[in-house]
Amino acid sequence: MDTEALKLGAPNEHPFMPFSSLGLSPALLRAVNARAYTAPTAIQTAAIPAVLQGRDVLGSAQTGSGKTAAFALPLLQQLAQAPKEKPRRARTLVLVPTRELAAQVGEEFRSLAQHLADPVKVTVVFGGVSINPQMMGLRGGTDIVVATPGRLLDLIEHNALTLGSVSTLVLDEADRLLDLGFAEELEHVLALLPAQRQNLFFSATFPPAVQALAQTLLHEPVRIDVLPEPQNEPDIEQRAMTVDAGKRTQLLRQLMTQHGWSRVLVFVATKHAAEIVADKLRKAGIDAEPFHGELSQGKRTQVLADFKASRISVMVATDVAARGIDIAQLPVVVNYDLPRSTTDYTHRIGRTGRAGERGLALSFVSAATEAHFRLIEKRQGLKLAREQVAGFEPTDTAPAVPSIGGIKGKRPSKKDKLRAAAARKQ
Ligand code: AMP
Repeated sequence: MDTEALKLGAPNEHPFMPFSSLGLSPALLRAVNARAYTAPTAIQTAAIPAVLQGRDVLGSAQTGSGKTAAFALPLLQQLAQAPKEKPRRARTLVLVPTRELAAQVGEEFRSLAQHLADPVKVTVVFGGVSINPQMMGLRGGTDIVVATPGRLLDLIEHNALTLGSVSTLVLDEADRLLDLGFAEELEHVLALLPAQRQNLFFSATFPPAVQALAQTLLHEPVRIDVLPEPQNEPDIEQRAMTVDAGKRTQLLRQLMTQHGWSRVLVFVATKHAAEIVADKLRKAGIDAEPFHGELSQGKRTQVLADFKASRISVMVATDVAARGIDIAQLPVVVNYDLPRSTTDYTHRIGRTGRAGERGLALSFVSAATEAHFRLIEKRQGLKLAREQVAGFEPTDTAPAVPSIGGIKGKRPSKKDKLRAAAARKQ
């Protein structure tokens, strides 16, 4: 895999270049304007011309870098210029790891396509909801499919869709796709695609499995590295408060009242904790809803929409909400329970301070979790002062055994054990 490397600074740092210089059509420039994007982000500046030239792209970038528009804009332009087929056949396939990301990517495509002379049909499909409406939605064909891999394969099995006309494949958050165990589904999907196609590959991290996948997929890609952090970091103020575990809900309530926080994303360790904490907050008079993987898709969509529209003030989430979700104007993220890994810490706090806004990421630390937080700090190169709030001074002492399962990677997770067992069987 020969690559042409392009290293860029932080997501918003780029040599000034207006959108109009990137080769996009007036209809797309109108849509960009309507979304109030004044200038392209670094990844957009680099990726848009490369995609328009038909090149493969290997993008190392996080959600928040503007990567969706970086591929959506040039792909829409290609589609708009391509000869029309009747019935429509899927030309662009975007694979994403989660339902929320699928919905977001689909929304961005639709919004950017709104001024095109010939309407472009965008179909979003994901699991966890009934397949029938999605099958109906694919009647008469479609131009762009945004999908999670499992449901895509189900739809193909139901003859609702074929991939024989796909000319561009986008893998979005490839690391997460593999993390979530989609490797096998991905392989099936790839086998159904025409060999001759353009491939756009985006990932925040490049562990060996992701590199290997990129290697097999990409042909002489233009490599774009949008370096995350440090320039980005000052946008997110990170703080740590020591508090006894049993006092965290009251402390959160006090902080919300004292600082007038109207919208807070609270992270907890488990689905059960999400339910319990949301319940406690509601009892304390705060509109809070849990958000985790065991809720129905309808419920998750509803809670997220309510949170985005400020109909509820607190969303109590597991790490399912830590990646991919984009909530504009989210000033505060609270680690009510600490994340297991430093990667999860980065993803959680990255929900705030987006698109140039300032954000606060607050971690509650107790005697039992102090050692774990120190590890996170060490790996993040951080050293945060431990703050205390009057009336919430901790009194608990550290237990002999730490109450958190250790940093991810040090011990095999449940999924690691399942994978190891599967490997032994082969
Ligand atoms: P993404 O990395 O694609 O998830 O985008 C993160 C956020 O940045 C989304 O809310 C986009 O709507 C927004 N965005 C994308 N491109 C730009 C731009 N050029 N200027 C300002 N905001 C943007």
